[in-house]
Amino acid sequence: MGLAYLDYNATAPVRAEAAGAVARALALGGNASSVHGAGRAARALLEDARETLASAVGARAQDIVFTSGATEALHRAVDAASGAFGDLILSSIEHDALWEGVKPTRTLACGADGVVSVEEAAKVLDGADRPLVALMLANNETGALQPVEAIAPLVRAAGGLLLVDAAQALGRVDIGLQRLDAAYLVVSSHKLGGPPGAGALALSPGAPFAISRRGGGQEQGRRPGTENVPALAGFAAALRSDFAAERVRIATLRDAFEAGLRRQFPDAVIFSDAASRLCNTTLFALPGLAAETSLIALDLKGVALSSGAACSSGKVRSSRVLAAMGVAPALARCALRASFGWASTKDDVARALEALETLRARRAAGRA
Ligand code: PLP
Repeated sequence: MGLAYLDYNATAPVRAEAAGAVARALALGGNASSVHGAGRAARALLEDARETLASAVGARAQDIVFTSGATEALHRAVDAASGAFGDLILSSIEHDALWEGVKPTRTLACGADGVVSVEEAAKVLDGADRPLVALMLANNETGALQPVEAIAPLVRAAGGLLLVDAAQALGRVDIGLQRLDAAYLVVSSHKLGGPPGAGALALSPGAPFAISRRGGGQEQGRRPGTENVPALAGFAAALRSDFAAERVRIATLRDAFEAGLRRQFPDAVIFSDAASRLCNTTLFALPGLAAETSLIALDLKGVALSSGAACSSGKVRSSRVLAAMGVAPALARCALRASFGWASTKDDVARALEALETLRARRAAGRA
């Protein structure tokens, strides 16, 4: 029996269509800047990927800057806006990809539900100097959707620019750059079943773009370096999936998982369950069962979950997001994340619940 992989928010398995597109692009070869036939073929793939992504996020093709992923795109956005903002405002639940790399002058707190409120945004924006405001569309740990659309008018009224991290949202909710009124929007390929190492920064027309690094003139000089055409072709192939049907199927699996979890563990805490959440994410705690030991026990049973806050060293550390939500450290240490996706099945749900049942037995026997 294979692995029950429920860690799509870390990285989704690569879809067959995406893997096929990568392989075809690799076989084709060519540098998208070359004038010969191979170069023109690579260019055609690249521009096709650009059109596909532009239509997925409601941007113009010329406003898509391809990058190596969301981390690079987030930093490229902050660099692009340099000189155009005074205050840098981050929500306290932004991903480490940005949080660890910049120094905000103000922060937006979230409520106990893991959501940043419009009232909080109004308070923090009051008196801010041409702010650049980073607010993610969906949180990677809780899946909680943030009211970006409602907060955007306040950012605009403050003379600011909005930077939206949509790495976890792409494919899972509809995204419209204009509707969100975002100057900058960031996405990543490997969260939705494309290959890793590809992502993009989508710009609203006229968004400031200070060039910070010069090199070859690729991406209109906005991201010098030979484009990773195979990965981007794979990203585009993944983007052509039938997300609407997929969301319904995934939500059913996630809901079945949560129902089973509540049956087995009446004391289970599901974080952000009162908020609007992504259809695929459950962050939960089983009191008394530390995440670190639970993850190992689940892994031995062939079930891949995450602590929601695993760092790059693979260690489990306490979650900044749960701390921001005011969750007691003892409970936060028990947090586990199950995240579902395109290849998840009912069998995965059953296996995860079965594996969790053994944890319940250990806890009852005092061996947790
Ligand atoms: N932003 C969010 C919300 C994420 O979940 C991730 C994933 O780790 C990132 C940014 C970083 O993405 P990437 O791995 O493409 O750099």
